[in-house]
Amino acid sequence: MTLLIFLIGLAVGSFVGVVIHRLPKGEQFVSGRSRCPDCGHALKWYDLVPVLSFLILLGRCRYCRNKISWSYPAIEICSGIIVAVSFFFLSPYGLAYWLFWVFILESFLILAFIDLKHFILADSVMVVILAAFACYEIWGGKVAGAGSIFSFGNLANAVLLFLIFFLIWSFSNGKGIGLGDAKLAGLLGLVFGFWNSVFILYLAVIIGVAVGLILIFSGKGSLKTKLPFGAFICFSAIVSTLFNYGVSERIAEFFRQLIFKVNLF
Ligand SMILES: [Zn+2]
Repeated sequence: MTLLIFLIGLAVGSFVGVVIHRLPKGEQFVSGRSRCPDCGHALKWYDLVPVLSFLILLGRCRYCRNKISWSYPAIEICSGIIVAVSFFFLSPYGLAYWLFWVFILESFLILAFIDLKHFILADSVMVVILAAFACYEIWGGKVAGAGSIFSFGNLANAVLLFLIFFLIWSFSNGKGIGLGDAKLAGLLGLVFGFWNSVFILYLAVIIGVAVGLILIFSGKGSLKTKLPFGAFICFSAIVSTLFNYGVSERIAEFFRQLIFKVNLF
């Protein structure tokens, strides 16, 4: 069952990959045949099987033998993990809750990979995430531990987090982080609440430092190498959503059991 869900995730990732590669170019992604970006040859269904086609073709186009970007299988695998892990942790809370989070996390994946490639956090994707949260809440759904995006508290969180990042951005002359990161921090504050956002940003800094150190020690970068911090924030948001709820539930269950046992004596 989990394998089937993972395969569905790979297929979703295939579409997400199309969005990631077409959105920055301003191309529409709802229809239109997939083509090799190098030779323009229309791709057949057997060239488009997630991950498998990439492996069989050894990462090269069948028609012009140019290299296919590693990001295609990477996006598909990330999507597979998102769908399968969220099925495990989030679907027990209801089908709508699970599908809502799959949509949100795939959107964060789109933001992340566009930032990795172009150092741009797409405003349109952030608006879609915000609109999805708004619709979900109006529909009657609740996001555990996040508060309402229509509350004064979360609005204040958003303004505060945006201002902190905005100040860092203006004082560093945009060298450390970009304006997009400030908008993203504001978005997190609005939809996740303050402490969840602080945790997500903290984890993003750890990921950033880890990636920076790996680049320096492997000789591929220096302290001056520009890093896509927004992408780290998105990956951090994905990881903390996937594992935070499951883990905090388990910790809570552990304490419930403990209290129950203590009461017995
Ligand atoms: Zn080609």
